Amino acid sequence: MSNPTTPTATAAKFKLAELPYYYEALEPVFTEETLRYHHDKHAAAYVAKLNELVAGTPYESMTLEEIVRRSDGAIYNNAAQAWNHEFYFDTFSPEPQQAPSGTFAEAVDNYFGSFDAMKEQLAKACAGLFGSGWVWLVVDKVGRLGIMSEQNAGNPMRYDMTPLLGIDVWEHAYYIDYRNRRADSVAALWKIVDWKKVGERYERARK
Ligand code: MN
Repeated sequence: MSNPTTPTATAAKFKLAELPYYYEALEPVFTEETLRYHHDKHAAAYVAKLNELVAGTPYESMTLEEIVRRSDGAIYNNAAQAWNHEFYFDTFSPEPQQAPSGTFAEAVDNYFGSFDAMKEQLAKACAGLFGSGWVWLVVDKVGRLGIMSEQNAGNPMRYDMTPLLGIDVWEHAYYIDYRNRRADSVAALWKIVDWKKVGERYERARK
């Protein structure tokens, strides 16, 4: 990613990953216009700001995950948003696995009753989150699944939880395609969430 706002761009430590699919690949759930704004403008701005803020601080030598776990204030906000967005975009696929499988599917049934019940609870959390934030499907250290609603940039790693799925409910995530209809944007999301990726995150966390 290039950063046209600062001459230190070539030395920028953190870079925004390219989307793992074409900009139009998730249509009609998200249009190319949404992804060009969401990835190239919003997510890129967090990364650019983070690079500005960490320059000359001890955070410069940390990984993005370490910064998310250890920083506060503006550095935390921008680091978490940088991490959250890369994780978010990497959750979708134009040809997703439509449902959990294997041990992850068993865990979903165990903790939520069913896959449909889990999606319902996630959607409810998205609808109930006031203002901007993220709804997370997480697994804790002993393997329990849960849902967390976090304001603003809030990231579950702060609480030693491993994120499996993050739903961005900031208006910028859906406003172009869905206007004020957040619930519709979440309902449509299930068509592009790749449960194979989510399951792999679960497997990694359980090792
Ligand atoms: Mn966003």
